[in-house]
Amino acid sequence: MDWDCIVVGGGAAGLSAALVLGRARRRTLVVDAEDQSNHVAEGIGGLLGHDGRPPAELYAAGRAELAAYPSVTVRAGEVIGGERREEGFALSLADGSGETARRVLLATGMDYRYPSLPGIAERWGRSVFHCPFCHGWEVRERPLAVLDSGETGARRAVLLRAWSDDVTVLTDGPAELEAGDAERLAAAGVTIEERPVAGLRGPEPSLTAVVFADGTELACNGLLVPVTLYQRSALAEQLGAAAAAPGPVVADAIEVDAMLQTTVPSLSAAGDVSGQMPSVANAIAAGSTAAAMIVHGLM
Ligand SMILES: Cc1cc2nc3c(=O)[nH]c(=O)nc-3n(C[C@H](O)[C@H](O)[C@H](O)COP(=O)(O)OP(=O)(O)OC[C@H]3O[C@@H](n4cnc5c(N)ncnc54)[C@H](O)[C@@H]3O)c2cc1C
Repeated sequence: MDWDCIVVGGGAAGLSAALVLGRARRRTLVVDAEDQSNHVAEGIGGLLGHDGRPPAELYAAGRAELAAYPSVTVRAGEVIGGERREEGFALSLADGSGETARRVLLATGMDYRYPSLPGIAERWGRSVFHCPFCHGWEVRERPLAVLDSGETGARRAVLLRAWSDDVTVLTDGPAELEAGDAERLAAAGVTIEERPVAGLRGPEPSLTAVVFADGTELACNGLLVPVTLYQRSALAEQLGAAAAAPGPVVADAIEVDAMLQTTVPSLSAAGDVSGQMPSVANAIAAGSTAAAMIVHGLM
């Protein structure tokens, strides 16, 4: 076997796992396609010790720390396929090379899919966001809106009141509220806006207004949108790992147990891909836990 463990993905979960594996002197290869889900964000909100730090800086610091551990190699690249062998795994990379390992940790993150609306892509992770805990502070006390025609819209609009007194829920058509929602929104001082939404305005990546189909506008500096998270590739499925039941936000996470072990022996998964609450702090913690369990297993 070439490696004790191959970590697929070098985001918060993968780099954190590699650090623990390196400190335990395990021969570790990290293969990373270098597309962490938060790379567009200006700063990481809510990560103790690194609050507001640009994501690229954190990942560069993580890779620099790994350089001190001779048993760890970090390689830019993409794992495009793999198979389970009698002992361990064989993975193939996009550059045509192949690697074998006794253990594999999938830390491949997730693809965050947001609603299709002109202007979102240009502002994603800045003035348009999916997580108020990550980005709410930066737009606090300004006019904010929630774009959500579904049943979660009312709940998220009330949540957003933690950051601003001026919150509107945009239902993008006739509101389909659950019983009691209208009262809850009124009590929280949230405005309901039913006009169809056509786009966004303001110098990108900033937002100054939401534009309605009738041409009118609503002043808005921060827009909370719903997302659905999908696995980025069929790698887990190819290796035989079962998917967890779909949830309201995560469509197809990998099923893991408390040790972050998948349904396939010697195959672990950590970070967003395992369906945990998505955050950098949680991904770092999960990578660390998964790696410690892998070291136990290897011994
Ligand atoms: C726009 C945005 C902003 C966010 N802001 C915050 C914030 O402020 N605070 C916060 O706590 N959380 C934030 N999050 C959530 C946070 O970024 C994620 O929870 C966290 O990055 C998950 O870490 P991860 O290691 O699981 O995945 P990722 O960070 O996504 O890393 C996965 C890595 O694996 C690589 N990869 C995928 N497939 C392969 C493959 N087949 N071969 C090789 N490499 C592969 C990817 O290229 C990527 O580099 C944000 C998310 C988004 C989308």
